[in-house]
Parts: sequence; structure tokens; C-alpha cells
Amino acid sequence: MKLTPELRLHILETAGVYAARFGIPEPRILMSTREVLEMPRHITTGRRTTAYKYYGVAYTQYNIRKMPDAVVLEETIVHELVHMRFPYLSHGRRFNGVMRRGLGGARFKPYRKRGLLPKRR
Ligand SMILES: [Zn+2]
Repeated sequence: MKLTPELRLHILETAGVYAARFGIPEPRILMSTREVLEMPRHITTGRRTTAYKYYGVAYTQYNIRKMPDAVVLEETIVHELVHMRFPYLSHGRRFNGVMRRGLGGARFKPYRKRGLLPKRR
């Protein structure tokens, strides 16, 4: 897919909709190699290459030109947002279930790390 201004806006809107559903802050989205290279090195270590082979990475980078269609694009956005909302889930059945629910419009409470609440006296 070609990264047009319209597509860029569409991606930001899609990410905004799903970030709200998953109860996470809207991610900063890097859509071009140039944007990746402009980020601080410690954030983009290992991903500062133009030959990057994934559709998306959960810090978040989308390889727009390799996207075959709008469905894969949306699934990729949701996939990466699921990583952000459910950092303890690895790929698999539960991960796919959460993805399916998110794509279907389900809403999730914000992620809270266990053990950070103050102890009761
Ligand atoms: Zn993944």
C-alpha cells in the first residue's frame, strides 16, 4: 500500500478507535523509515533498517508498503495494540481471542500491573 495522507489519517483514526477499546493511551505511530530513523536510537535498536520484514512491531512500526490490503492493515494495528494492552500474553489462542473480541467491538479495562496497589493496613 502506498502511504498517502489519507491512509496516514486512516491509520491514526483506526489506532485511536482501538486504543480506546483496549483502554490504552494512543500510541505514537511511526509510518516511514525516516520517522523510525528520527527516533532516539535506544528506542529503535535493531529496527533501524529499511529491509524490515514485519507488518508491524509493538513499539509501533508499520511497514505500509508491504500491506496487501485494508483488512491486514487493520488486523496488524489491532495485533500491535493487543501487545500493548496485554503485555503478558504471547501469541496463541488467548491472544487471538482477545484480537477477535477487539475487532468485534469489545471494550477492555485499562491494564493494571498487579502488586502496585498500596497495601491495606
Ligand atoms: Zn505479535
